[in-house]
Amino acid sequence: MLDNIRVVLVNTSHPGNIGGAARAMKNMGLSRLVLVDPIDFPSGDAVARASGATDILDNAQIVGTLEEALVGCTLVLGTSARDRRIPWPLLDPRECGVTSCEQARQGGEVALVFGREYAGLTNEELQRCQFHVHIPSNPDFSSLNLAAAVQVLAYEVRMAWLAAENQPTKVEKFESTSMLSSQAVTADELESFYSHLELALVEIGFLDPTKPRHLMSRLRRLYGRSGISKLEMNILRGVLTETVKAARGEHHKQGKDDV
Ligand code: SAH
Repeated sequence: MLDNIRVVLVNTSHPGNIGGAARAMKNMGLSRLVLVDPIDFPSGDAVARASGATDILDNAQIVGTLEEALVGCTLVLGTSARDRRIPWPLLDPRECGVTSCEQARQGGEVALVFGREYAGLTNEELQRCQFHVHIPSNPDFSSLNLAAAVQVLAYEVRMAWLAAENQPTKVEKFESTSMLSSQAVTADELESFYSHLELALVEIGFLDPTKPRHLMSRLRRLYGRSGISKLEMNILRGVLTETVKAARGEHHKQGKDDV
């Protein structure tokens, strides 16, 4: 589906930017690069900046005019670093990602068109685009590096695509004890923890059983709020067991036995 989305770079001067754009595309799962009349391509600088995304450079389609680059497209989006005088339907980068994805999912062909480093896209070129996309940058310094602009839109396309595919955008790290760490403790486990805690607090002299005040209910409130997992509860139980042992001087004995 992402194959239906092509990135079109118009009249690029610096081959390094073509390489940077290829890398940005490959990182985000895009593969189709179309170069309209590039000034200096192929080039070692492009390969160096592509940093492994050379397949995208090798497969890049090189054409002479924007018209040729847009053949077969059902949706053309043109990017611009500045507000132009011509009023035009606008999309922000997020809307651009969603709209491009929707179009591609319906089997359409989408072009994201990027302009020259020094002059952007001409008004005539912009008029070939159904929508204009402006990355809302600092108005006093609005022009991004070409490859950086490709990165931003490619990222938005990817986020929209992941959402449409119901794929996660977060890589969860599971511990080997993942079941325990994700399982919530039960009420009875909490009760036996509170008993253990109370016993330990008495043992170390922190809680006077003749004058308990509100200590245990306050601690219940604290742990009740914590959404503690089974794994965390096991850790706390371990700490209590060792605390009681230490208070009873059992560690000392054990140390001696070990020798
Ligand atoms: N001086 C040019 C700058 C072009 S930057 C101008 O004013 O248009 C090169 C290309 O990067 C632009 O043509 C556009 O495709 C992209 N680009 C840079 N900054 C952008 C921004 N803020 N929003 C959208 N595209 C941007």
